[in-house]
Amino acid sequence: MKHQLLFSSAGIATQILISSEKDTILLDIGDGIIRDLLKTEINFSKSQSWHIFISHGHYDHCGGLFSFLGFLRMLGLPSNINIYYPSESIEVESLLDVFTSIYKDSLPFKLKNRPLKNNETVRISRSIYVKSYPMVHYGSIVNQGLLARVPTYGYAIFHNKIKYLAFTGDTGINNNLVDLVKDAEYAFIEATNPEDISSKNHLNEEEALNLGKLAKRFLLIHTKYDSR
Ligand SMILES: [Zn+2]
Ligand SMILES: [Zn+2]
Repeated sequence: MKHQLLFSSAGIATQILISSEKDTILLDIGDGIIRDLLKTEINFSKSQSWHIFISHGHYDHCGGLFSFLGFLRMLGLPSNINIYYPSESIEVESLLDVFTSIYKDSLPFKLKNRPLKNNETVRISRSIYVKSYPMVHYGSIVNQGLLARVPTYGYAIFHNKIKYLAFTGDTGINNNLVDLVKDAEYAFIEATNPEDISSKNHLNEEEALNLGKLAKRFLLIHTKYDSR
């Protein structure tokens, strides 16, 4: 198993690549996904199984889905593509619906929607399984404040029963975070909130650092972009 943080910046994109011999996993799939993947050693020329786990429906986490599917369709590869997402994520489901309804007669690959429930475990190979952890995250618009809560999952990838990697997605502090991050070999923890005070929506640096200490190694990601 190998992994690579391809990109992460709040409001722009997040994508993490995990690869084993046969399977390729992406955690979130934002803008620039094809550009980022083409810089890696991933080989698009052979048929492979893709497992794409989407934390939530905000554009900076799933906006690259259309490009990704379009690119693989263009290459004509008979891949298996599995898209996993919180079952109530209307953005992800709608994006998939649009793509499949437009191109249903010319899809070279097998595309499978895999809506997940809270704390669901999915096995993707004999040695790898992934578990969903419900997180707490809300939409927001500048100068309008918080909007409705967005169905959001953090994911842990287990390899040979060891928690190989934990990923929080976007989230405010909540009771499932410790469970998700604890004892992970690697943890990718969002630290978007630039303030010292806690928010309902994102972790600040101190909260993220405290969580990171529960893992063997960690990286703070998805810090706020500089909008100037
Ligand atoms: Zn985000
Ligand atoms: Zn978000």
